[in-house]
Amino acid sequence: MFKKILVANRGEIALRIQRACRELGVKAVMVYSEADRDAKYVKLADEAVCIGPAPSPLSYLSMPAIISAAEVTDAEAIHPGYGFLSENADFAERVEKSGFQFIGPSPESIRIMGDKVSAKQAMIKAGVPCVPGSDGELPDDPVQIRRIAKAVGYPVIIKAAGGGGGRGMRVVHTEAALVNAVQMTKAEAAAAFGNPAVYMEKYLQNPRHIEIQVLADKFKNAVYLGERDCSMQRRHQKVIEEAPAPGIPRRLIERIGERCVAACKKIGYRGAGTFEFLFENGEFYFIEMNTRVQVEHPVTEMISGVDIVKTQIMVAADEKLPFTQRQIELRGHAIECRINAEDAYKFTPSPGRITTWHAPGGPGVRVDSHIYTNYFVPPNYDSMIGKLIVHGDTREQALARMRTALLETVVEGINTNIPLHKDLMVDAKFMEGGTNIHYLEEWLQLRNPKR
Ligand code: ADP
Repeated sequence: MFKKILVANRGEIALRIQRACRELGVKAVMVYSEADRDAKYVKLADEAVCIGPAPSPLSYLSMPAIISAAEVTDAEAIHPGYGFLSENADFAERVEKSGFQFIGPSPESIRIMGDKVSAKQAMIKAGVPCVPGSDGELPDDPVQIRRIAKAVGYPVIIKAAGGGGGRGMRVVHTEAALVNAVQMTKAEAAAAFGNPAVYMEKYLQNPRHIEIQVLADKFKNAVYLGERDCSMQRRHQKVIEEAPAPGIPRRLIERIGERCVAACKKIGYRGAGTFEFLFENGEFYFIEMNTRVQVEHPVTEMISGVDIVKTQIMVAADEKLPFTQRQIELRGHAIECRINAEDAYKFTPSPGRITTWHAPGGPGVRVDSHIYTNYFVPPNYDSMIGKLIVHGDTREQALARMRTALLETVVEGINTNIPLHKDLMVDAKFMEGGTNIHYLEEWLQLRNPKR
């Protein structure tokens, strides 16, 4: 096992990784920008290094700043968390060339999966079902583009090969709008992701977002830890996640889970990963793979008892997975609400000083958050300030626990989306389970048609 790991991230995930390191008896070096000097995990750190000013390109996205922080502190490995440099193959490569272990898959795996076109091609080869669409990148010729769309069938969605975070996508309903939409998405993709390549998929009308968590070691052992349902989204961004996915027969999950495990073995994948699918009419369609720990990993931890972050670190240290598929037992139901510093219904960011923070508690309640009373939420980063996760024997019990936990949670000084979560936890359709990816947007529209 490593003696010392550098945590190249901020916020709740930095704290989460610090906790995993402590349990493993590994020292964690925390890095921080000038805006995060007062973060809880910095105050609690064995060692902490300031890596630059608040803007992330000058700190959390600065490869030289992070690598030199690892050098001066004598760390052996770097955990990238999620977001920032976590899915940057060049970073993983530079980390390894500088003599550190990158806590994640190989740069090659990241590169293949980071480009959604090559990811889909790899998945088709590995026998994972994909959304029907163009055979790779779209050509420039309008005639050919129209021909492809006709074969796929409208509506179609144009997606950037290098896209992420719900950006770089455009739905097209008619041939008249097609070529212009492709050109606009290309231009946006070039500006936002430095890669103009786009591809086309059939736009599924009522799918659910279901994803499979995998863990793999370098000895070609791989397991899947069941699924998560992340269909409650706004602007293609997840708001609530749960595990297991309500109403999907176990045999379907097992079949797709086994496919994902086989794909991991085939591509020599190592570490934690997530295969994201759209699920419609009883079929799974692969959309992308995330080669890192995800925001919503705790719901899987709650039902499986597996510590995903600790396991990530163990397999990066060349240890074997400590369990086999047969030893994985899923129990009960878990739900996660992402708590954002934003107005609950207008969604305007609400950074600033938290004057009061009371965390909820009780059986089956978990809070992953770095905030505290008097903490200043900096305006420079993502608005998520924490996650509230509950576990129950049944989905009903988990829902009841989440309602209680939300009621107990007090955040004063800034606005949060807690009121939104409270309303959703008593919404009849959500309580029924199995809502599709458009449900939350439609629900918001009905609630406030002027938006
Ligand atoms: P990102 O990497 O930006 O998260 P994804 O490919 O994972 O992009 O897609 C994000 C979300 O966009 C999905 O969860 C789904 O809501 C929507 N989406 C993507 N592809 C399709 C599709 N072919 N049909 C319908 N919705 C889609």
